[in-house]
Amino acid sequence: MKTKKEHCKVVKAQRIKEQYFASQRLCGGRKSTKLLKMNKSDLPISFHEKQLVLDKRYLLMAKIWAENSYCIRRKVGALIVKDKMIISDGYNGTPSGFENKCEDENDVTYPYVLHAEANAITKVAKSNNSSLGATLYVTTSPCVECAKLIIQAGISRVVFCDKYRKESGLHLLQKANIEVVHIPLDK
Ligand SMILES: [Zn+2]
Repeated sequence: MKTKKEHCKVVKAQRIKEQYFASQRLCGGRKSTKLLKMNKSDLPISFHEKQLVLDKRYLLMAKIWAENSYCIRRKVGALIVKDKMIISDGYNGTPSGFENKCEDENDVTYPYVLHAEANAITKVAKSNNSSLGATLYVTTSPCVECAKLIIQAGISRVVFCDKYRKESGLHLLQKANIEVVHIPLDK
């Protein structure tokens, strides 16, 4: 069921669309007149559609950022966005000063490897920015340890594309009333 406000928005959008197409039919290529000045790009896009486009683009950027990781088993990238600005970034890897090697000879990840979310959040801690109310974009859904950090960092929204096999992190975020959005990206 649509709310009255949403219904009005849809009706208004429909009316503008009709005006646009009517102008195309009536004026058949001639210039001027107010209606002819409307372009297809003037057609209203809903807030949710705009947000989805931005979310996908930030996720794609996080995916590219993941390529910085030296980890072999899985490369994860994260971005923290606040007020339409990227205030931090991270990818999974060893702490500063450690060798860029994430797995031992048995292909087991070293316990001191930091996850992308932890790197992005701790990078904010070193800066003058605040993650309060920010959105975290991450290529793999957060584990429970990162979920704890996300909650404590005051992040209010988490957008991810790939689901980690353990979902306890996602459950913890939802329990803390953090908005969690799953947007699978086309391979
Ligand atoms: Zn994690």
